[in-house]
Amino acid sequence: MPSIFSKIVSGGIPAGIMHQDELVTAFRDVNPAAPTHILIVPNQEIASLDGLVPGQAELAGPMLLVARGGYRLVINRGPHGGQKVMHLHMRLMGGRPLGPMLCEA
Ligand code: AMP
Repeated sequence: MPSIFSKIVSGGIPAGIMHQDELVTAFRDVNPAAPTHILIVPNQEIASLDGLVPGQAELAGPMLLVARGGYRLVINRGPHGGQKVMHLHMRLMGGRPLGPMLCEA
């Protein structure tokens, strides 16, 4: 079964796409924790950050390069990190001063 983010990448379900290229897609989070809350994902379905194998690690650069403006980037990994969707995703949050720590809504 493709992940929900793979379905967004392929256009199978609607999302507020902000950017898409051959490697990376960025779209608005449906449950924003900040005025700007965008998810940046590799188009390839990779479960999590520690699932990267050689050849996939190179995707980290393009994921970072999509980020623009003033922001905080967060990657949740595993149960302690709070990861629920098993498709690597980087949260870009901003739109207001976020303070020293991020409290999720
Ligand atoms: P995590 O808890 O790290 O796995 O984060 C998953 C994030 O994906 C949450 O912030 C959700 O609000 C977001 N999310 C889940 N489904 C969708 C969707 N269909 N479109 C946009 N964002 C989503």
